[in-house]
Amino acid sequence: MISKRRMNLHPFDEVADSAVVEIESGFDVYQQWECEHCHAKQTMPDRNKFYERGICEECGKETNIKKRGCNYMKATQNLRPVIASVMKGDS
Ligand SMILES: [Zn+2]
Repeated sequence: MISKRRMNLHPFDEVADSAVVEIESGFDVYQQWECEHCHAKQTMPDRNKFYERGICEECGKETNIKKRGCNYMKATQNLRPVIASVMKGDS
């Protein structure tokens, strides 16, 4: 799904560095970026991979992600430990 809401874009190298830390902590990360032509928000389908360029699903034009900056979404395959720690925090 594509959202028109603007996302916070950060320098590619900083995002990649912090994503490596997340991956090493056991999370999966998905690169997110914004089309420089139509500003559509995109999420890459490949986990733990960062691309320097991307083709927009909306307008089909290429964006230089490395130059423009990006972000990422953090996910976990097993939600149990996260839920457990939240419940623990509430009590
Ligand atoms: Zn586009």
